[in-house]
Amino acid sequence: MHIKPREINEFTEKSLQIIWDNGEETIFFYEELREVCPCATCRRLRKKSRTGKLPFKKRIPLGKISMAPEKIEYVGNYAIRFIGKNWCETGFYTFDFLRKNCVSGE
Ligand SMILES: [Zn+2]
Repeated sequence: MHIKPREINEFTEKSLQIIWDNGEETIFFYEELREVCPCATCRRLRKKSRTGKLPFKKRIPLGKISMAPEKIEYVGNYAIRFIGKNWCETGFYTFDFLRKNCVSGE
């Protein structure tokens, strides 16, 4: 049984709250979500990078700017994606992926 979001809320300017349909809540930081972007390009960049992380810092001065997306869209009924200048439109964050990567969750 796949757990889906019941609500997706902007929590702060830096983070997002998902309330899941089982009642659990998770806070995700946009910066951390951006780091784990599941799109093919970012996967390839991470694989090539020595640290296993995206070679972002050159392009995006993290911490200095808000990573908040302009909007969050549902992809079918299995994923969301983030629309905004620092985000990849083909980065589909499936709900299973988000559940598995509750990096900032309690
Ligand atoms: Zn990406």
